[in-house]
Amino acid sequence: MAGEHALPNALRRRGLMFVLSSPSGAGKTTISRMLLAADPEIKLSVSVTTRPMRPGERHGVDYHFVDDAEFDRMVEDDDFYEWAHVFGHRYGTPKGHIRAALKEGQDFLFDIDWQGTQQLIQKDKQDVVPVFILPPSIDELRRRLEARAQDSEAVIQARMDRARAEISHWDAYDYVVINDSVDLCFARVREILHAERIKRRRQTGIIDFVRELMGQSAVTTVA
Ligand code: 5GP
Repeated sequence: MAGEHALPNALRRRGLMFVLSSPSGAGKTTISRMLLAADPEIKLSVSVTTRPMRPGERHGVDYHFVDDAEFDRMVEDDDFYEWAHVFGHRYGTPKGHIRAALKEGQDFLFDIDWQGTQQLIQKDKQDVVPVFILPPSIDELRRRLEARAQDSEAVIQARMDRARAEISHWDAYDYVVINDSVDLCFARVREILHAERIKRRRQTGIIDFVRELMGQSAVTTVA
């Protein structure tokens, strides 16, 4: 049957760069972990950072932890897709094999700030899906930050200031989701991902499928 070979080809698609940004404490890390656990087609882009490792974090899993000299070397060697100063430390997305993997249909999740998101959009607008997560209120954000025992009061205050600054960039994102309930927020984030995957321009294999459906060669483009 003709459809038997058409289907796998029709499912061929270009990968996407799924960006989740939010002020720290809005629940982005929880949502990221849920997404990575639930969806085998998306992989975390592990960032490089000069900030010290926190308890429970693992090198190469949460971040690649490097010293200033190593970060300098990577900047000089043009090893970063984007990088930025955040909370007095530097963070960057290593280029690695991302471009080639996108072509093969691999999706990547980026947990990066607004500065990094801007750089990705400038370089690769077609592939980037920018999503911003908002806390339900500023009081709730403070409560969540205070619940993190590992940070001092001074750090919490600095993060509240940064949170307001980060939130001010919300309108540079295509999608905005309020995290009033983790389950609802997660469901919305998944809906965004699912819908973006089936955008016509990402479905590079669909043209052959449509041609076959129509039984003629008049369909020449999916753009
Ligand atoms: P944390 O130190 O709490 O893990 O992250 C602090 C902030 O840095 C978060 O807003 C996070 O999204 C951002 N961040 C993490 N990795 C990167 C990166 O590679 N590039 C940029 N621009 N921001 C990052």
